[in-house]
Amino acid sequence: MKISERIEIIKGDITTLRTDAIVNAANNSLLGGGGVDGAIHRAAGPDLLAECRKLKGCPTGAAKITGAYSLQAKYIIHTVGPVWRGGQHGEPQLLAGCYSNSLRIAAENGVRTIAFPSVSTGVYGYPVEKASMIALREIKAFLDLNSTVEKVTVVCFDEVTYSAYKRNYPVIINQ
Ligand code: ADP
Repeated sequence: MKISERIEIIKGDITTLRTDAIVNAANNSLLGGGGVDGAIHRAAGPDLLAECRKLKGCPTGAAKITGAYSLQAKYIIHTVGPVWRGGQHGEPQLLAGCYSNSLRIAAENGVRTIAFPSVSTGVYGYPVEKASMIALREIKAFLDLNSTVEKVTVVCFDEVTYSAYKRNYPVIINQ
């Protein structure tokens, strides 16, 4: 399959997807929060929190996997994006790590289809224009080298996010 067919940008609610895995933009505690994290915990049910408690948190830029409980997905991969502090505090490298580490863990678990939200661009304040370039670059770089993961969907919750990813998609894909 061509790389352009293996990356899809959609607008929607990630909790409704039927992909093998969905990624959660979590915080360091992994004990739930607002935004997409809150939506995933509400939709998955309380057993997710019980499993997350056993993980003892997660460093920024890293990722950890759990079951998906009441969701349609098989797994949730929890990653912790950087809080935007102006861009000179390692934010780009940490955000890149969220995508590469989530995808590596997905492949290790035989995940063939996976959906990401736009990590860090909500409450954590990462500018979506910059974040979308990093996200798409990391996803493409991983797919170029890995054939376990067949397809990655980026799920954008609002129009501004969707249009940034749509605009930057051809820039990255055609590199
Ligand atoms: P962060 O703390 O990493 O910034 P947020 O959850 O605040 O995480 O925001 C990340 C992105 O996820 C934002 O673009 C936000 O609009 C989006 N988002 C919120 N709820 C959902 C959802 N149910 N599905 C997909 N994306 C969502």
